[in-house]
Amino acid sequence: MWSLIFFFIFGLIIGSFLNAVIYRLHSGESVARGRSKCFNCQQTLSWKDLVPLLSFVWLRGHCRYCQNHISWQYPLVELASGLLFAAAFYIFFSSAVVSLIIIWQFILSLILISFCLIIFVYDFRYYLIVEAVVWAGLIIMTAANLFIFQISWVSLAAAGAGASLFFWLQLVISRGRWLGSGDVLLGLFMGLTLGWPKVIVALVLAYWVGAAMGLILLAMNKKQLGSRIPFGPFLMIGLLVTWFWGDYLITLLYG
Ligand SMILES: [Zn+2]
Repeated sequence: MWSLIFFFIFGLIIGSFLNAVIYRLHSGESVARGRSKCFNCQQTLSWKDLVPLLSFVWLRGHCRYCQNHISWQYPLVELASGLLFAAAFYIFFSSAVVSLIIIWQFILSLILISFCLIIFVYDFRYYLIVEAVVWAGLIIMTAANLFIFQISWVSLAAAGAGASLFFWLQLVISRGRWLGSGDVLLGLFMGLTLGWPKVIVALVLAYWVGAAMGLILLAMNKKQLGSRIPFGPFLMIGLLVTWFWGDYLITLLYG
């Protein structure tokens, strides 16, 4: 129980760091240097303004110095990261047997969650896939799959090529109206992270969630038919869900 709380709080802190990364990727500032400032009044923030979740609640979503409204992105990313870190701990350590491989799977899960959150939020807010972020995640996950989990490179290459080709064909056929070149790279990322055949499960899930979301938005009159919805967030949901429950989903779907 204490471990769950520990990883929830650790996730909150990482989430707060991910928010800073997202902000600095967008503003073009260095990710590594400089203290956090209010982007409205430029006041350097103290630790009291930077406590994950609590500062937002305590300040009721406003800057302490200029009262400027703070985006819901901040507490939501922190909360999502905290919950996912705790969930990852629960999934890998709820059984009694703990092996070195399970510890590695857990560590890689935390890394994957962080990359997926950045890609999800950035595409959701700015309709853009930051390719450097995807490449970094892709290289880490591929190296881990090859050298730690000993997954065959044939399975990885097939999955990466298959998924990226699938998106590339749609890109060419629709001349960029259905999806962007960033989604082709996300296909490669998903394939190299999940391998064959799990990548198929992730793609199916992404389309289901995307279709359901599209119908909900249409019903709520938020979007019109043909209006652009970023696809990256759905791909990241498919990727994470399959990373955690891929084996279970495959037996569920194909027996
Ligand atoms: Zn301010």
